[in-house]
Amino acid sequence: MISQNAIDTLRKTEIGARGLFIDGVQADGMSGENLTVTSPIDGRPFAGIADGNAADIDRAVRSARKAFDKASWSRSAPAFRKKVLTRLAELVEKHADELAVLGVRDNGTEIGMAYKAEPLSAAGTIRYYAEAIDKIYGEIAPTAENVLGLIHKEPLGVVGVIVPWNFPLMIGAWKIAPALAAGNCVVVKPPEIASLTLLRLAELASEAGLPAGVLNVVTGRGAVTGEALGLHMDVDAIAFTGSGPVGRRLLDYSARSNLKRVFLELGGKSPNIVFADAPDLKQAAVVSANGIFRNSGQVCVAGSRLLVQASVYDRFMDELLSATKRLKVGDPLDLASDIGAVSSAEQLDKNLGFVDRAAVEGARLVTGGERILAETGGSYMAPTIFENVTQEMQLAREEVFGPVLGVMRFETEEEAVRLANSTVYGLASAVWTANLSTAHRMVRAINAGVVHVNTYGGADITVPLGGVKQSGFGRDKSLHALEKYVDLKTAWIAL
Ligand code: NAD
Repeated sequence: MISQNAIDTLRKTEIGARGLFIDGVQADGMSGENLTVTSPIDGRPFAGIADGNAADIDRAVRSARKAFDKASWSRSAPAFRKKVLTRLAELVEKHADELAVLGVRDNGTEIGMAYKAEPLSAAGTIRYYAEAIDKIYGEIAPTAENVLGLIHKEPLGVVGVIVPWNFPLMIGAWKIAPALAAGNCVVVKPPEIASLTLLRLAELASEAGLPAGVLNVVTGRGAVTGEALGLHMDVDAIAFTGSGPVGRRLLDYSARSNLKRVFLELGGKSPNIVFADAPDLKQAAVVSANGIFRNSGQVCVAGSRLLVQASVYDRFMDELLSATKRLKVGDPLDLASDIGAVSSAEQLDKNLGFVDRAAVEGARLVTGGERILAETGGSYMAPTIFENVTQEMQLAREEVFGPVLGVMRFETEEEAVRLANSTVYGLASAVWTANLSTAHRMVRAINAGVVHVNTYGGADITVPLGGVKQSGFGRDKSLHALEKYVDLKTAWIAL
């Protein structure tokens, strides 16, 4: 784990203005303009990134295509790709302190969580796909004796990666690592408010021996660079994590350009369901509080709808309130903080808008609901719980992406299933019960990409992550993620 001393030294590092990363080197943006990067920790500017434009995206895509056609990566022996990616994983681990602090200055995630979820998790992901790539075989079809049917797996070509500001390194690695391992070349469009760690990752990849042009990073505004990547005629696929509205745009860009395939990991309104027979109500309350409030609720799988069975409702709410009150909100670069800053002043305003509307619609505020630590100049919000939430309310239907929990009460399993499935989303969920049959019935009944049982979150790289319904399609993580980045080619050979 990172030490407070290391954090305090690294937080003072001058960052300056960062360029793009194209064709293996840092490059100025064509516009010559920079975007100011403001830290949510104190509301002060601390770095600049190039304000990339469509011409920059075009340069990066050309570089990626040139590298792909050169085949020194795309057609290289899997053992070579494994060697380079393993070296990259080691470099990410070696620079974990630097990457973690840089990321926190950018997006405000508490350092304890960021350290594990960003550099360490990214390194683990890169190593996982590095190790996998020389163990995956093509197939021989079960044909008649006079033919040989071979199924080859081939890289797609140029893959565009667009990620959000919460955990950009971790989520970036979920896409970049399998895409590279499969032999593709990649152009990354980081989120404008948290680009720095992905720029650093590209430098480390170069140091690890990744050939020039195989991994490019173009910073800038989503509506400019993201759109240009989505509309580019020479990009073969877009792997996206972010909001629903931008996901829809990407499908539109694809339809208006070259029908590139699009994989969407979108938002959620995940139900966390506590049955009266939960094995340990106190433990369930602690984990549930963490499951919504860590990283100020800015977690796609956050358990933002809590459904509690009526017979244990009061007891559970007491435990939940105590667990919530114990969470310390503060400077995300202080190891003693359980919760850091909201990613930006705009996101904080948006969260407070949800609070106002919930109160107007008749939900009862149990705790929080306000900005705190305003004297720091940063964006901090108290963990917020509303009860008496009904399905019609905005809080039950729309993703806040902030530390705001809506609580509902239910009587029967059928009612819990109905409430759980009554949003347009289907990303994550949880069920707390000691009854194995209830647990398995709920796993079958809930429409979501993941159902946790007697825990919340924490699934590792070995299992897929992704949604159903309007939470998107395509899966990150696990060996299944590799399927997104290869095409199957059939060879039908007469013997
Ligand atoms: P966002 O959709 O606003 O932005 C995501 C990315 O898209 C950013 O890089 C942004 O610059 C880019 N972008 C913005 N406009 C664009 C455009 N017109 N064309 C192309 N790209 C564009 O999302 P956000 O606010 O950064 O992140 C929060 C959202 O991400 C939430 O909805 C959250 O649930 C979701 N999320 C989902 C997962 C998951 O795995 N399902 C994980 C984390 C976050």
